[in-house]
Amino acid sequence: MTQIFLNEAVKREIDKVSEAAQYLWQREWAERNGGNISVDVTEIFGELPPSLDSFPHCKLSMVGDDQFPKESAGHIFFVKGTGERIRELDQPQLAGCILRIDDDAQGYHILWGGRDLPDYAPTSEFISHVEIIMQKQQAGSADRCVVHTHPIELIALSHHPKYAHDEELYTHVCWQMIPEVRAFVPRGIGIVPYCMPGSKTMADGTKEKLAKHDVAIWEKHGAVATGVDALTAFDFIDVANKGAKLFLMCLASGYEPEGVSKQAMHELKETFGL
Ligand SMILES: [Zn+2]
Repeated sequence: MTQIFLNEAVKREIDKVSEAAQYLWQREWAERNGGNISVDVTEIFGELPPSLDSFPHCKLSMVGDDQFPKESAGHIFFVKGTGERIRELDQPQLAGCILRIDDDAQGYHILWGGRDLPDYAPTSEFISHVEIIMQKQQAGSADRCVVHTHPIELIALSHHPKYAHDEELYTHVCWQMIPEVRAFVPRGIGIVPYCMPGSKTMADGTKEKLAKHDVAIWEKHGAVATGVDALTAFDFIDVANKGAKLFLMCLASGYEPEGVSKQAMHELKETFGL
């Protein structure tokens, strides 16, 4: 089996994935094979071999109807494998792989990693991740990583009948708990109404929400965020979840929190140019 040697820059990005993956596991946000992470490493990957013929190849038409976006042709990603555990991303060559999307965006070569080749495949959310990253790049964003995970308190709040269907209110109750949530999740939280995991409705809804917000909540399921790397994407979800956790803790203690006032939050916005 042919495998490629990784340069230091790519190894550093994968190290960040491994680090973020352990945080997700420690927070109980990544049971079994729940959640996934993808990073676009195209710009730092360096030289490719003259021919990729000796690397394992998969054509998407063989495995389903979904297709990569055309503009993703030639892009190189590190991605968690389908069915693989987030907690095992401390061995990224087993739980993940690096793949290159073909020039016609109809398939990919696996260049590195991939536990059970030739049966290994990237997460079923991968096409959706590629679409999200391509949209970010087209909008001029430096974001190269997508993280999907199951943050407990953000999910619990997405079950609350009063907040689950009003993303402005959902965002507000998280923002109001400590100034950092307002400061470090400045574009707020969008909510994708419950739908079938892996569906086009979910993929399109996530893209729409992440165009305007720092975190997309999948109602009664989980959260998605992007960042320049895995740690930054993790931070958005982690900070947002702190707001949800504090809010639910107050409700569980039997009182509605007073919250940082709207005036004080406005001052934060003005001061930090949020
Ligand atoms: Zn999930």
